[in-house]
Amino acid sequence: MQTNTVPATDSIVSVKGLRKTYPDGVTALDGLDLAVAKGTVFGLLGPNGAGKSTTLKILTTLSYPDQGEASIAGVDVLSEPDVVRRSIGYVAQRSGADIQSTGMENLVLQARINGFDRGEARHRAAGLLDRFGLSESADRLVKTWSGGMQRRLDMALALIHGPQLLFLDEPTTGLDPEVRAELWDAIRTLCYVDGVTVLLTTHYLEEADRLADRIVIIDHGRVVAEGTPGELKDGMRGDALHIELTSTDMVGLAMGVLSAANLREVVAEGRSVHARADRGAEAVPVVLAALDAAGVRVLEVTVNRPSLDDVFLRHTGRRFATTENERTA
Ligand code: ADP
Ligand code: MG
Repeated sequence: MQTNTVPATDSIVSVKGLRKTYPDGVTALDGLDLAVAKGTVFGLLGPNGAGKSTTLKILTTLSYPDQGEASIAGVDVLSEPDVVRRSIGYVAQRSGADIQSTGMENLVLQARINGFDRGEARHRAAGLLDRFGLSESADRLVKTWSGGMQRRLDMALALIHGPQLLFLDEPTTGLDPEVRAELWDAIRTLCYVDGVTVLLTTHYLEEADRLADRIVIIDHGRVVAEGTPGELKDGMRGDALHIELTSTDMVGLAMGVLSAANLREVVAEGRSVHARADRGAEAVPVVLAALDAAGVRVLEVTVNRPSLDDVFLRHTGRRFATTENERTA
């Protein structure tokens, strides 16, 4: 094992100026920078086609960039791929498990491929089956397992050699909400209990929000925003207020009242008025009193913390959901 490659910082993953254009002329990465702190869950968030899988393929030594640098635990990914491979695990977007074999057989085979003897292979396989709550089904064919169990097996397979960093490419895409939540628990435990740093990609805003300690939002192969989920949302300056009136007649008057009350970004939509306030909960009683005094009747008021969707909209000028539809259409 390499021992003379001490990382310069606490970053376990460091990426600088990564560029890649595929032979057909599609630019997948356009100067990407990333830094992932050890012992954290890091979310690479972006719509379809943003460059997430390309980034992971380069970091896992499966593909080369045209330009830029990438290192893992201080080891250069391009010049020392064999060293890098020993310290990472990778779960691709599509499962690599053999569904015609049992869970135990899959894991033992994976361990043998990694050079462990028969005894050690069984020992590691049993440990990981137990770790992911799969022991009871160990000797059943994987094709009889649920989607969530198969996904956990994929993670176990990627961890057979005991890597310090696990890459997960859209781990929960296509899973139903309960299974997704169950997988989030497994990922958290892996990171915070077992100490494995996790770099995952996702196109689910909610997933990045709930799971990642730090998020980088990418679009067209470059970073458009980064921070903790909280920081990204705080950057939106204020909560969104949605005020529904009893009729459209009062909308103009209501907008004037809200502007006078120092709310920002006051816009009308049907018989509703949307605006932003620094502290939504405090603004509500003030705004309601002012509207009442002006004779405006209010049906409903809701206050929302800004969402990552707002963040994406702010930085790209497009809604995340719209982007998805465009790309998949
Ligand atoms: P994501 O994982 O965020 O959906 P990808 O990294 O898969 O994005 O793709 C980024 C862009 O590169 C897309 O426009 C995609 O069509 C293109 N692309 C990905 N892989 C290839 C490839 N092997 N050959 C040509 N174009 C590719
Ligand atoms: Mg992808």
